[in-house]
Amino acid sequence: MIRLLLLALLFFLAYTAYNAFVRSLPGRKTLPKDKSREGEEMVRDSQCGTFVPRSMALEKSIKGEKHFFCSAKCRDIFTGKKG
Ligand SMILES: [Zn+2]
Repeated sequence: MIRLLLLALLFFLAYTAYNAFVRSLPGRKTLPKDKSREGEEMVRDSQCGTFVPRSMALEKSIKGEKHFFCSAKCRDIFTGKKG
């Protein structure tokens, strides 16, 4: 009787392990939204470090250097920091 229980437990563990394995398989979840951004230049937010498409980034020149930001909030924090 105990052997049967152990066997059932073993099957249960194997089943959950298999499920975890299947879910971790790469290439199952492909994000098609990345394709639309292909070829567009990515710029780095000088404040938070996020990469944003050039067309969506806020641009600001500070002391002759060009900086890009993901949002006005980041831009304001960055320019505030610099005085
Ligand atoms: Zn940002």
